Amino acid sequence: MTVHELLSRLDGVRRSSRGYVARCPAHPDRSPSLSIHEGQDGRILLYCFAGCAVQAVCASIGVEVKDLFAAGNYGEQKPHQMTFRHSDWESLAFRYRFHADGLWLRGQEVLKTLTGAKVTNWSSTDRDDAMEKAIRAYDDLERAELLDAVAFGIRQRGLKHERKRYASRQSAA
Ligand SMILES: [Zn+2]
Repeated sequence: MTVHELLSRLDGVRRSSRGYVARCPAHPDRSPSLSIHEGQDGRILLYCFAGCAVQAVCASIGVEVKDLFAAGNYGEQKPHQMTFRHSDWESLAFRYRFHADGLWLRGQEVLKTLTGAKVTNWSSTDRDDAMEKAIRAYDDLERAELLDAVAFGIRQRGLKHERKRYASRQSAA
C-alpha cells in the first residue's frame, strides 16, 4: 500500500514538513494526532500522539499492519546466515541479550515521554522531531526483538553443540 492509498482513508489530512498529519481514526480526535511518515525503505510509519497502538489505527480503517510495508516484501528476506567462531556460546548470547534489553528500555522510555504529549500547540517542526524520535524508538524495539531472537538461537546452537560433544565423548569412552 502506498502512502497516498493510506491517506485516502483518513480525515483531516495535512502535509507536515516531513510527512503528513491526520485525525486518528482509533480515538475521538479533534486535532490531528496521527503522524504519517514514509520510511526510507518504503515502509509507512504511523504514530498517534494520544497513544493509540498502530494495530488499533490500522484496524479502524480496515488496513492490516503488514500493508504498511511496501509491496509486502518485508519479512521475505532470508535471515542472515551467521557463522559462529565463538566457542563461548553462553557469554555471546548474554551479550546479545544485554544489548537487546538496553535497546528495549531506551525505546520504551522514549515512547513513554511522547505518549499523551499535548501536540495541538506544537509547531510542525516540533511534531516532526517528536515523530522521528518515535520512529527511532520503534526501531530500537524492533532491533531488541531481533537481537533477543539471535541470542536465543545462539544458546540453542550452543546447547546442541555441547550435546554432540558430550555424545561423541561418551561413544569414545
Ligand atoms: Zn489515536
